[in-house]
Amino acid sequence: MRRLILILTAAAAAAAQTVPDRFYFAEGKIRVLILTGRNNHDWRATTPYLRNVLELAGQFDVRVTEEPSGLSEETLKPYDVLVANYCGPRWSAQAEKAVEQFVRGGKGLVVVHAASYPFGETAVLSENMGRTTVFQQPWTQWGQMVGAVWSDADPKTGHAQRHAYEVKWRDARHPIAEGLPATFLISDELYHNFRIKPGVHVLASALDSPKIGGNGKDEPLLWTNAYGQGRVFHTALGHDLDAMQTPGFTATYARGVEWAARDRVTLPARIDTDPKSPNAVRVLLVTGGHDHDAMFYTVLDGRRDIRVNVDPQPAAFRNDLRKNYDVLVLYDTIQQDQLPEKHRQNLKDFVESGKGVLVLHHAIVDFGDWEWWWKDVVGGRYLLKAEPPLPASKYLHDVEEVVTPQPGHPISQGLPQMRLFDETYKQVWHAPNVTVLLTTDHATSDRDIGWVSPYQKSRVVYIQPGHGRETCEMPWYRHLVQRAVLWTAGRMDAAKP
Ligand SMILES: [Zn+2]
Ligand SMILES: [Zn+2]
Repeated sequence: MRRLILILTAAAAAAAQTVPDRFYFAEGKIRVLILTGRNNHDWRATTPYLRNVLELAGQFDVRVTEEPSGLSEETLKPYDVLVANYCGPRWSAQAEKAVEQFVRGGKGLVVVHAASYPFGETAVLSENMGRTTVFQQPWTQWGQMVGAVWSDADPKTGHAQRHAYEVKWRDARHPIAEGLPATFLISDELYHNFRIKPGVHVLASALDSPKIGGNGKDEPLLWTNAYGQGRVFHTALGHDLDAMQTPGFTATYARGVEWAARDRVTLPARIDTDPKSPNAVRVLLVTGGHDHDAMFYTVLDGRRDIRVNVDPQPAAFRNDLRKNYDVLVLYDTIQQDQLPEKHRQNLKDFVESGKGVLVLHHAIVDFGDWEWWWKDVVGGRYLLKAEPPLPASKYLHDVEEVVTPQPGHPISQGLPQMRLFDETYKQVWHAPNVTVLLTTDHATSDRDIGWVSPYQKSRVVYIQPGHGRETCEMPWYRHLVQRAVLWTAGRMDAAKP
């Protein structure tokens, strides 16, 4: 009996236990919840951008809900600020009450573009700029939070033709504005004739030009509002991705989210959406002599620690490369007689200076007539024709193969087996003392399809897969190539998966 009571007590205690949010959110970051999932605008495209900007800015931990009608006091509890990218029907009574309490109680709300429209006296809008004939009872507290509502009465709230215009600060000393240029340019809709509530603090406005159907007035576009103890930042900007990608939108939006959450702004005046570390590995990607899918250019994208320039050969080698680049990535096809003597010397100087070289896919065909290159540097050679006793190398397109990364080297260590749809090569010569990184059992392929060359003066790697789109878009393949770049640059520490 006693035992049974103990078990029951333990079960009751377990049921009552709450799991701390710190297990799921980054410490010290502003917790943002984006409300979306219904909008007459393209929320499927804009919501990831709104999320990405905040994540790149570095101070935010962002979640998204596409069903805000399911919100409750409980689900909102972990968050500091809500971002509304929503323009659709009303939410549940529970959700609306929870949002009101959230903001009134001292948290933040950011209202983006069409999110000022819903819950008022105007018709509910539908997907793809659609309009319904459905009118709902207004949720008046939303208008109180936003600081404005839309009206169909004269003068009707809306906008003239979308165009490029200048937004200027009316309160350049507000924390959101401070340090930003006095004006910024954007191509966007310019909302006019808002019914603005008393107490709204206008931050920025733009002239609604009568030349294109505007009302000739200076229209408030960015403002702040107080709702209970909470802070609201409203931006009328952000009709689509093109508008959102404007530096003026990006900076004011991210700073507005920070301000609404924390009542202060520490973010810089410009949010870099493709930030590179100052000490990023500088890659020269050499193409030419072999066509390829443009998708290849994205293989090295998305890392702060890799910066890539592309230059086709032979011009790529016209200058001394040692000062400007750390790693040469070859995705080209060229023979020695196609490269002028001076260019050849520049290539040789680079390779002998202790830098990195990554040879990809068809670049194994390079310089089959330059023994120093294929024998000493790459440790491998694709034979365009037989040189007895060596047979000619062969290729086959459209092969589904299993590629196995080999343990024991930082480039391939710990990577999973990959299923690739690629081109295979057979009868490629490689030096007996290479360090094998990748193998396959496919009958149309050599076994060893990736290696580190034994070359001593710099780090040289060959990776055979990489023919087309199907391989280049595979995350583990991209990761493998990125690791190879970092390793050849002597920066493998930065390449944790
Ligand atoms: Zn719009
Ligand atoms: Zn190929």
